[in-house]
Amino acid sequence: MIGSLLAKLRLVWDHCTVCGGNLGSSPQGYLCPSCLSGIKPAPTSRREPLPYVSAYRVYAPYEGVLAEAIRLIKFRGVRPLARLLGERIGGDLRSFREEVSADVITFVPVHPFRYWGRGFDHNREILRGTDLRWEEILVRTKHTKPLARYGKEERFRKVESAFSPAKGERVEGKRVLVFDDVLTTGATAVSVSRTLLLHGADAVFFYFLSREG
Ligand SMILES: [Zn+2]
Repeated sequence: MIGSLLAKLRLVWDHCTVCGGNLGSSPQGYLCPSCLSGIKPAPTSRREPLPYVSAYRVYAPYEGVLAEAIRLIKFRGVRPLARLLGERIGGDLRSFREEVSADVITFVPVHPFRYWGRGFDHNREILRGTDLRWEEILVRTKHTKPLARYGKEERFRKVESAFSPAKGERVEGKRVLVFDDVLTTGATAVSVSRTLLLHGADAVFFYFLSREG
């Protein structure tokens, strides 16, 4: 009885959460190599401007395998998947950095409260999977609950002045490229950009792994 139950559970554990296929030698235990290799750049035609952001690029829409991978990383703490995503976006991020002539790449950090809960900062972990140089320029000074539960207006209020440059980090005269996982309303990007510009950055660009809606 217990044996067969375990066998059933094992069947679930051993299979890709998206297609149900065999996980093979997948190091993270959730997505099969075939689904992972299907994560590719899929630029959207939507390009409405974001205030304070000179230009931005979105790797692909928030759907399918990519959305599942992001959920697994953020809500189930599947750390190896973050590195794998980083490997996939590295080339596209590099080309965007060259296109906008950015001096430095950085990322939107999570607040330490959430970092402790998960054990790692997912954006930093994704960048680690790329072969690009990046720096930790920003700190989150205000703990905000997950923004998904708020309406658009409220999201902008919640993240207002929620960031600042880390102690000793100078951004004057620099063209800063910021990485973030998901573009939803743009509230976070606007807040980060305004902060960096107020501290003397020359221009701020954003690269999003994904876009919702
Ligand atoms: Zn699969």
